[in-house]
Amino acid sequence: MPELPEVETTRRGIEPALLGARIMDVSVRRARMSRRQPNPADIPGRLIGRKVREVGRVGKFLIVDIEDDFSLVMHLGMSGRLCVADRGDPEDAHTNIVITTETSREIRMVDPRTFGFIVVFTPEELAGSSIATLGPDALDALPRSPRFMRRMAGRSVAIKTLLLDQRFLAGLGNIYADEVLHRARVDPLRQAGSLVAQEVSAIRKHIRPVLADGLAYGGTSLGDLAYLLPDGRAGEYFVRLRVYGREGESCRRCRSTIIKRVVGGRSTFSCPSCQR
Ligand SMILES: [Zn+2]
Repeated sequence: MPELPEVETTRRGIEPALLGARIMDVSVRRARMSRRQPNPADIPGRLIGRKVREVGRVGKFLIVDIEDDFSLVMHLGMSGRLCVADRGDPEDAHTNIVITTETSREIRMVDPRTFGFIVVFTPEELAGSSIATLGPDALDALPRSPRFMRRMAGRSVAIKTLLLDQRFLAGLGNIYADEVLHRARVDPLRQAGSLVAQEVSAIRKHIRPVLADGLAYGGTSLGDLAYLLPDGRAGEYFVRLRVYGREGESCRRCRSTIIKRVVGGRSTFSCPSCQR
C-alpha cells in the first residue's frame, strides 16, 4: 500500500500539472471509486470550471484545495497510483479516474483493485469526515518527544499496531513502520505503553529520516509494480530496506536471520537479536 513517501512523491509529481490549473473535465469510470462521496453526482459540478489553489497532503491522503473552498481528496488505497499524461496519450489498463485541465493535461488514477477513491468535500463535509480524525502528519508535523511519549503512555496495543494507527500518526504504513522499529532496535510486538523513554525517543528520532530517505528514493515499488511515480518510473527505496520483505535474509546490523510474524493482521519483519 502506498505510504507517506509514495503519496508525497505522487503529490510532487502531479503538482506541476494541477497547481493554478482550471479543471475542465472529470470522469469517474468505476462507480466504486466514488463510494465515499455522499452523492457521487456532485463530483463533476464541484470540480469543473474551478481552479486548483493548492496541492496538499496529510498522511496518505492527497488533499487538493479547489476554488470556492472545495477539497478534492484522493487516496491510492492498496494498489492505486496517479500518472500525468496529455489528452490522447495511450491509457494504462485500469485507468478509473481522469481529471482533465484546461491545458489538456490529465491526472489519471490507475487502480486495478479499486480500493482507492476520490471525493470532493465542502468544508462542513471535510470536518465530518475521517480526514478530520487523522493524527499529525509523520513528516511535516511529528510531535515533539514529550507529546509523542504522552500519547503513547498507557496504550496496550503492540507498538507496530499503534504506528499504523492513522489517528495516532498519519503516514506510516507496513513497510516504513517496520523500518523505523528496526532502526530504533524495538521489537514490533512490544506493548506501546511498556516502552521506556529512551525507546520512545529512538522510535521518534528515526521516523522522519526513514520517511525522508524513502522520499529521496521516490518511494518503494515492490515486485508487483503497483506503485509507480507519476512519470512511470519505479520508486527505488527497496534497495535500502533493512527488514521489510527480507525474511530469512541476514540482518545488516548483526547478521542474525530476519523473521516474519503477523502483528495486528499485518506481516511484520524484524531482527530477533537486535530488536528487543
Ligand atoms: Zn539484527
